[in-house]
This record gives sequence, C-alpha cells and structure tokens, in this order.
Amino acid sequence: MTSSAIHVGVDVGGTKILAVALRAPAVAGAWEPEAVRTATVPMPGRLAPTAEIEAAVLAAVAEVCPDEPAAGVGLSVAGLVDAAGEHLRFAAHLPWRAAPLRRRFAELLGTPVRLENDANCAAYAEIVAGAARGVSSALLIAVGTGIGGAVVLDGRVVRGAQGGAGEFGHMQVVPDGLPCECGLRGCWEQYCSGRALERVMRVAVGAHLDGPEVAALARSGDRVAREAIASVGTWLGVGAAGLVSAFDPETVVVGGGVSAVGDLLLEPARRALRDSLQGKDFRTVPALVPARFGPEAGAIGAALYSLDGPGTPAG
Ligand SMILES: [Zn+2]
Repeated sequence: MTSSAIHVGVDVGGTKILAVALRAPAVAGAWEPEAVRTATVPMPGRLAPTAEIEAAVLAAVAEVCPDEPAAGVGLSVAGLVDAAGEHLRFAAHLPWRAAPLRRRFAELLGTPVRLENDANCAAYAEIVAGAARGVSSALLIAVGTGIGGAVVLDGRVVRGAQGGAGEFGHMQVVPDGLPCECGLRGCWEQYCSGRALERVMRVAVGAHLDGPEVAALARSGDRVAREAIASVGTWLGVGAAGLVSAFDPETVVVGGGVSAVGDLLLEPARRALRDSLQGKDFRTVPALVPARFGPEAGAIGAALYSLDGPGTPAG
C-alpha cells in the first residue's frame, strides 16, 4: 500500500448504497480521514436479485474511484455479520441469507474486502477519527428509526460470539410495555427512537409529524415538541445507564438521525443517565456526546477498516 492509496467504504443500506473514498494517511495514525469522493446509488430493493445489488455496489465503487483502482474496500451492512467477517447471515432489508459476501465482493472487485456490521463501522469511525478518538472504552448508541449500537472495549469493537453484540434496541426496558415489531414487548426502541418521537407527538397533538418536523418545531420553541424530544432523551439516558453499568465506558457517543436535534435530546439524556447510575455522586459519569459522523458514518468506518488491512476483523 502506498501512502496515497485510495480505500473505499460502501454502506449498503435499505434504500441506498453510499460509497466514500478516503485517501490513506501519509503517516499512519496521525491523520484526518480525507473523503476524496462520495457517491450515492439507489438500492435496487430488498426483493431484487442479488446480481442487481452487486452491480449497484460495483457502480458505486467505480464512481468514487474513477482514476485508480481501490487498494481495498470495506462493506458496511445493516445486518448480522458472522464473527469471522466472512458471511452476512441475515439482514432484514437485504436479500442475502448466510451469504459469503466478503469473498464474493473480493472476487468481483479484484481487491481485498472487509465485511462489517454498519453500527460497528460507525463506532470504528468514531474511535479512529470522531467523537471517541483516543478513548479506549466507549459505546455507540445510534438513535434512528430504531436503535442500533456498538460496544468498544479496550480500543476494539466487540463482535460477540455470533457477531451480534451491540443490538441494544430490543433490550426490554418496560415489562409488558408497548409491543415491538420484533414480537417482544417493552423494547427500548419503542421509547427511544424516531418512531417513538412520532408516537409521543401524535398522542400530544393528535396529528402525525415526522422527526424533522418535530425537531423544527422544537427549535422554534414549541413546548410540546420540546417535551416530546425530552421524553425520548430521558429514555435514552435511562437505557444508557444500564449499558454503562454493564460496560463501564469512558464515553457514550450518540449518533443516528434523531441525534441531529442536539442538546434538546442530549441534555435530558445526560440528566437521566446520571440519575439512573448507582453511586452517581462517587463516580465519574461518562460523557454523553454527539457523534461526529452523520449518515456517512458506516461508509467512513468501512473505509477505515479497509485501510487497516484485510486481516482479522473487529479491530
Ligand atoms: Zn423489539
């Protein structure tokens, strides 16, 4: 690998495929990721033949690497990646099942490929170059339509026995609580997510408003919208406190679309986190901070993983 090599991260999402090309640093470890090019290609769809999705991924990679081949490609997928980083076992919004995606794309692209879960990629981006840079133990909580997450311990993204570590959204926080699409009740994401925010607003004002509309209202000072966001923020802090008890992180990074509302969400979350921690007056309460990277976090993290080399995943 030369110092100017281009590495590409591709986030294969439910509605679009986002590719980011990063230039490798001249000095390892001392750099800012320089996104030299990004591209977005529509996702052919969950029911499309896999060949169409493969072609779309190749098109996205070609678009961000017009002049030179990529030295490596990282694939970020919203699904269950096995612990070896070889197979995508299952993804609700993608057609592959138990598919050897890493090898397949390495053959198609003719370059080394890394395969990772999207939340793990986002967490990796934050510890290498983002809000948790230099922190050895951190949690990423991505509050979007639902909740995704990742665990970083001792500088490594933890994969778990089956690659499923960090799926925080379906932890039960309310026994016999609201029903969840997963079939259980009282899951955290029923109280802390974009959908939860919409539900709280619907109950309060009797009309449907989407997340950005609620955020705009709250920024303009609307009390009901602010209270709805604060409710979601409080649940964020309560759930985070449980995770802090389990993992003892230094920093809790909050990403995902809902986090764009900023302190209207994070301040209630910080209060609830502190109030829900045992021994709160006798310990350092972890910082709860916004993620640096937005919707492109998965692609950037995948590119950074690729830059790290094709070897052992979960670094
Ligand atoms: Zn659930």
